[in-house]
Amino acid sequence: MEQKRFIKNDNSFICANCGKTVEPLGYSSRNHCPFCLWSLHVDENPGDRASECGGRMYPLRVEIDAKKGYVIVHKCEKCGAVKRNRAAHLAKVQPDDIRLLIKLTTGNI
Ligand SMILES: [Zn+2]
Ligand SMILES: [Zn+2]
Repeated sequence: MEQKRFIKNDNSFICANCGKTVEPLGYSSRNHCPFCLWSLHVDENPGDRASECGGRMYPLRVEIDAKKGYVIVHKCEKCGAVKRNRAAHLAKVQPDDIRLLIKLTTGNI
């Protein structure tokens, strides 16, 4: 029997850090919690769910990209991998906490 160990693309999930229920984004796969911005190390490339790690990823900092806007830099607690993920603060459903994003920025604003 194949076990479904990881979250399927854009389903609702329970955040591994704060325990809140996160609803699907709708337009793209959501890969982090909008409340605490933590993520899970399940992707090699955004949305592919190809990583075997499964560790929790915390928001290291937030960068401001001229094209992408807010980009959250996540670091894996388990293996130390660093990934960049576009923030979803403009989402209609449960947008990312903008105050938390600003708090984590490197001060370019
Ligand atoms: Zn959370
Ligand atoms: Zn990892």
